[in-house]
Amino acid sequence: PSTDMSDLAIASRAVLQPIGQIAESVGIPEAALEAYGRYKAKVDPGLLESRGAKPGKVVLVSGISPTPAGEGKSTMVVGLGDALSATGTNTMIALREPSLGPIFGMKGGATGGGFSQVLPMDEINMHFTGDFHAITSANNLLMAILDNHLHQGNILGIDPRRITFKRVLDMNDRALRNIVIGLGGPSEGVPRETGFEITVASEVMAVFCLATGLEDLRSRLGRMTIGYTYEKSPVTVDDLGAAGAMTMLLKEAIKPNLVQTMAGTPAFIHGGPFANIAHGCNSAIATNTARSLADVVVTEAGFGADLGAEKFMDIKARYAGCDPDVVVLVATIRALKMHGGVAKDGLKEENADAVAAGIANLARHASNIKKFGVQPVIGINKFATDTAAELAVVTQWAASNGIECEIADVWGQGGAGAGELAAAVLRAIEEPNNFAPLYELDQPVEDKILTVVREIYGGVGVEYSSAAKRMLEQIHANGWDGLPVCMAKTQYSFSDDPKLLGAPEGFTLQVRELIPKTGAGFIVAITGAIMTMPGLPKLPAAMHMDVDEHGNAVGLS
Ligand code: ADP
Repeated sequence: PSTDMSDLAIASRAVLQPIGQIAESVGIPEAALEAYGRYKAKVDPGLLESRGAKPGKVVLVSGISPTPAGEGKSTMVVGLGDALSATGTNTMIALREPSLGPIFGMKGGATGGGFSQVLPMDEINMHFTGDFHAITSANNLLMAILDNHLHQGNILGIDPRRITFKRVLDMNDRALRNIVIGLGGPSEGVPRETGFEITVASEVMAVFCLATGLEDLRSRLGRMTIGYTYEKSPVTVDDLGAAGAMTMLLKEAIKPNLVQTMAGTPAFIHGGPFANIAHGCNSAIATNTARSLADVVVTEAGFGADLGAEKFMDIKARYAGCDPDVVVLVATIRALKMHGGVAKDGLKEENADAVAAGIANLARHASNIKKFGVQPVIGINKFATDTAAELAVVTQWAASNGIECEIADVWGQGGAGAGELAAAVLRAIEEPNNFAPLYELDQPVEDKILTVVREIYGGVGVEYSSAAKRMLEQIHANGWDGLPVCMAKTQYSFSDDPKLLGAPEGFTLQVRELIPKTGAGFIVAITGAIMTMPGLPKLPAAMHMDVDEHGNAVGLS
């Protein structure tokens, strides 16, 4: 296959099967399928027959600490899913829905790449089945109800300066980060300072992705804390009475979206929370629905395994019961070289010594996964520039350390490039699994954070800002101690300093802020600068996009 074509060009040559046929291949009855055009459908989990007590196994795809370009986890999910299907294994894929922010900003789409893509890629990347619009609307309905409450007399005594919730938009738009609303006089609302966040950073998105059903969705929405009263007591969505209408806005969106890979493997693409301020995985409903249909479900957690996999295990698996049976750690030669000290512009040149030095990063991620009682399998995402000598450094290291490791060319060959990795995954999921989260919920929040820092990051301690210390007191006082923690940290380093590559040790993690997300059900610990409304770069990816004379998308990658 030719790999000098763009992702969009490759995708546009694929022949898609009608979505009904894809549904049939995995046993979804017609009655449970709601088609959105020819190639997309929502699936009603309530109308599926139960598989009984034997849900499908979960293959979690995570990765080493990445380069800014991304190391190909989504691409690997798709290629591995296709490779598993090709072995005759009844396989489904579950991935996040792309956000318009990164698509038009820098990173581009999130539907895989090369010959491992989910389709129709342009439609999945834009609008899709409208879920993000529904989530945005539910969030903004809440805000309209909240500001109306202030305007109509503020019976709850909400302090307008202590409202923590914001309006959202699925767009990178820095000009909306800080705004003043309610200007214009007594009939125009109560003036206050606020701002917008990107939809994927919202708690409504996190709730949407952790809810295990409509009822759970409603009670999680109701439990969200929107701010504090003048007496500093928390105010929830239930206090405002908004949870019912919000749930109504989400009742169709909450059904998982079925699409297909280029090789016809059925895939759910559903929900898409950020991996820093939130937990970074597709919806629990999609993962669990896929498990009720397929024997093996391949899914992904955002960023490196220190963030994505840790949160998958400590947050998502705990709430949704989708314990991973194996974790595939995606590694690339270029990222290993970066961890081995090579600068960004030298990553394409052969340097087996740098690969060897960079393995420290991969080694720590692999031993971290074992701490959850799960076997890691390393999948090297092969790039055209990788040399045999560089690849051998990794496979030999893995062999001498007793870790399964296979090279996969999913980008260039699709599922055909991941046959050995699929075989290794099938072997690993048959091994006994002793999965357990890293920490118990009944310990204080500080202890949970310290456990993650020591066990996963390799640090020695945690320092809290005075604002974070004040919030710790509130967390104890409000009885939120029993929640898991959601670490918001740079993805580039195990530490909170993006420049500390490899496997740094001895550092102290700085917690700047703690944000209780009482609906999602976690306490976010913010380290460093985390943006909840990203901006566009100087030359946004949008500048290269257009439509051709036939109305087809151009320049989407
Ligand atoms: P992640 O999910 O880890 O962020 P993606 O799977 O989205 O990464 O891949 C990021 C980008 O890198 C995509 O544009 C994809 O097409 C490209 N890519 C992934 N793997 C390869 C590869 N082996 N060779 C070339 N490009 C690749």
